[in-house]
Amino acid sequence: MRVHIVGAGLAGLAAAVSLAAAGRRVTVYESSGHAGGRCRSFHDSVLDAVIDNGNHLMMSGNRSAMAYLDEIGARDTLTGPAVAEFPFVDLDSGARWTVRPNAGPIPWWILCAGRRPPASRARDFLAALRLRSAPPTATVEEVLGGSGSLYETFWEPLAVAALNTPAAQAAAQPLWQVLTETFAHGAASCRPLVARKGLSASLVDPALERLAALGADIRFSHRLKTVQTRDNLVTHLEFTETGVVVQPTDAVILALPPQGLKSVLPGVSVPEGSHAIVNVHYRLPSPVMAHGDVSLLGLVGGVAQWLFVRHDIASVTVSAADDLADQAAELIGDRVWTDVSRALELPSAPVPPFRVVKERRATFAQTPAAMLLRAKTQSSLANLCLAGDWTDTGLPATIESAVRSGHAAADAVLES
Ligand SMILES: Cc1cc2nc3c(=O)[nH]c(=O)nc-3n(C[C@H](O)[C@H](O)[C@H](O)COP(=O)(O)OP(=O)(O)OC[C@H]3O[C@@H](n4cnc5c(N)ncnc54)[C@H](O)[C@@H]3O)c2cc1C
Repeated sequence: MRVHIVGAGLAGLAAAVSLAAAGRRVTVYESSGHAGGRCRSFHDSVLDAVIDNGNHLMMSGNRSAMAYLDEIGARDTLTGPAVAEFPFVDLDSGARWTVRPNAGPIPWWILCAGRRPPASRARDFLAALRLRSAPPTATVEEVLGGSGSLYETFWEPLAVAALNTPAAQAAAQPLWQVLTETFAHGAASCRPLVARKGLSASLVDPALERLAALGADIRFSHRLKTVQTRDNLVTHLEFTETGVVVQPTDAVILALPPQGLKSVLPGVSVPEGSHAIVNVHYRLPSPVMAHGDVSLLGLVGGVAQWLFVRHDIASVTVSAADDLADQAAELIGDRVWTDVSRALELPSAPVPPFRVVKERRATFAQTPAAMLLRAKTQSSLANLCLAGDWTDTGLPATIESAVRSGHAAADAVLES
């Protein structure tokens, strides 16, 4: 028996590692020349540095991502503050504050003015409880009110970052799922974590090494074109260069983004639509952080939303950034530097060298309607499972969702 896994993003890699570790024979097929999909690093010639396609934030409560990192021996490649804290700056007023959840499940931190956003009141946080009973049709904005200090300085930035969808359109239910798995458990589960040396060094390369050690077969430059079926089974995978016969005892996992899946299985229903994430990476004139440290800063009142600083590289994330992605890179770099220079209290000119990375289909548009189209792990074909951040994990399309979907697919194969 062999398991054929198509797609070497985090969902495919997580499934492959679990199955190979359980003793299954595994082949991974990937259309590009590298693994990691939407979560990868590359050397940029302008900055002469290894940068990520986009800053990726994880939380210590991301149990599937942490289990995956343990499986590939890479948990210690993450870094973050010793305690759960989220510093913010308001680019309009210059106000700075830090959100500091306390240890344990009783959130007394919301009672302390110094631990929550300025001008917010403890009772404003109670609005979050409405997320618990939000109907599937509700958006974040509808449930949380759409205005007020706490909404603008906390809920909206959190929702846009987690769901990569404007809060007026984003589904409320997955945000509740995030809160229950992180903030609801207290500080130990909501420590922000990032890859110290980059995404590939933490999440991709150690997985490929582990797979090689377990004897898995990884084939790059294999784009799946069609899937042939007979008697409710996948029988043949047709790639650009070659075809693979799927034996009756074999299993198949397609770990592809929604549109990729639709192109190989046209009958399947998948969420339509996506949103962009734009990242701008600047090489600062001198280091702001010591080697190995990464700082995180939430920005409100500007274009930039989150700022990550590693040594002398400052990287900005703008989510739900479809309009920004349509602008020229030069304009984006200049505009975003206004925010970064203000946040880091650096001169506004000259603008340092930068690289703009536009991921136009960063995630699917996570609207209430799209949630109904998330696929189950087990497809209607007996030997085919589906994985990917967009499948029905209940979570926003994140690393945690991708890894969890990969683990779910691996479990389904092992059970069958
Ligand atoms: C800029 C950006 C910032 C992000 N920030 C965060 C963050 O801060 N925190 C967080 O948790 N998540 C973040 N995400 C989301 C996270 O990157 C994704 O949820 C996750 O990487 C998705 O993994 P996946 O395996 O489901 O899909 P993918 O990574 O898309 O993997 C699918 C793989 O399939 C391959 N493929 C496609 N079609 C075919 C085919 N026909 N044949 C063979 N192979 C094929 C692709 O090349 C790819 O390697 C961000 C994403 C982006 C783009």
